[in-house]
Amino acid sequence: MVNFDEYKNVWVYTEQRDGKLMNVALELLGEGYRLSREIGGDTKVCAILVGKDTDHLIPELYKYGADQVYQMDSPLLAHYTTDGYTKVMTDAILAHKPEIVLFGATHIGRDLAPRIAARLDTGLTADCTRLDINTGNYMHYLETYTTANLNGLDPEDGNKGLKQTRPAFGGNLMATIVTPNTRPQMATVRPGVMEKRKREEGKSGELIQEKVQLTEADIHVEVLDVVKEAKELVSLTDAQIICSGGRGLGNAEGFELIREFAQKVGGVVGASRAAVDSGWIEQSHQVGQTGTTVKPKIYFACGISGAIQHLAGMQTSDIIVAINKDPDAPMMQIADYAICGDLKKVIPEIIAQWDEE
Ligand code: FAD
Repeated sequence: MVNFDEYKNVWVYTEQRDGKLMNVALELLGEGYRLSREIGGDTKVCAILVGKDTDHLIPELYKYGADQVYQMDSPLLAHYTTDGYTKVMTDAILAHKPEIVLFGATHIGRDLAPRIAARLDTGLTADCTRLDINTGNYMHYLETYTTANLNGLDPEDGNKGLKQTRPAFGGNLMATIVTPNTRPQMATVRPGVMEKRKREEGKSGELIQEKVQLTEADIHVEVLDVVKEAKELVSLTDAQIICSGGRGLGNAEGFELIREFAQKVGGVVGASRAAVDSGWIEQSHQVGQTGTTVKPKIYFACGISGAIQHLAGMQTSDIIVAINKDPDAPMMQIADYAICGDLKKVIPEIIAQWDEE
């Protein structure tokens, strides 16, 4: 039986690549900060920084909320390897016993987190879109539960466990998952879902330099070269304005109009899966459950019906503008501004008027 009292603090794996912090690392620090304060007592949020020559990143982690930074620095950690990173993270977790460990659901986070969870024999909830601390009532969150799936846990006891919510069954319902028997509680979280804290100039914290016990023999692959994709990367996650097109565009040429639109408003081109599956645009533009989760200031949905899997990736946008010829389309219902009409007429009109505004 695991003694829960031995486990303390919220750890955030603050992923860096080439000496740059990933956006999702800062978002998760903000979320970790919130959770740690909700748990209360002297619970801290700790940034876990793994790599080589990462000193310059430490002040930034404090400014975005970290109370403590655990730094694991070694030439053997210069490039991400599943073996190396899994070993040092697992060792550190075993030594310090954090209560919660969060990872960004990036390619690396999705590779690393399950390995660590398996070694620690604990649970992991992938692709969470919401996290909460149980302050009293599971039943409030779980519409259907059985005593079996709560494993004898009292749903009313407010045990401060982590409630991990993610879309399930193709996005048709949200499932809230708890980790009643093991620690730590582990989750990966989609980029673009959580809020960064406001950068706090002058904020400092405590640095813990963790001794790295790693030899070449622990790593079974050798990184010979890192080849970056030469094509232009679509930065949907960080975009302030996104102009997305769907099946309503009619054909691949329809995206010429969307590109012109995006260029005019200073936005990035997004797409529905129907448009991607039709071969009109590359998958890297896809927004939604199986694409990218986005949270821009303005999301233009052009000829997109608003299927639940698409909404899952963009419904937290600040302002949603729907352009659709069907007034009853779900996207028109959730939009802040719903423009009913043929997109081939509406979009050129917006482009023409944009400069006049
Ligand atoms: P449609 O649903 O066909 O809608 C087209 C819209 O265009 C309609 O509302 C129509 O009124 C409008 N329209 C037509 N002509 C015009 C015009 N001239 N002017 C204005 N409006 C017009 N989908 C995603 O987008 N992202 C995902 O990540 C995703 N993941 C999925 C995962 C799973 C497991 C499954 C099962 C599905 C997933 N889908 C995803 C697919 C999703 O269910 C929908 O099929 C898809 O989003 C529909 O795309 P759409 O809105 O472009 O097309």
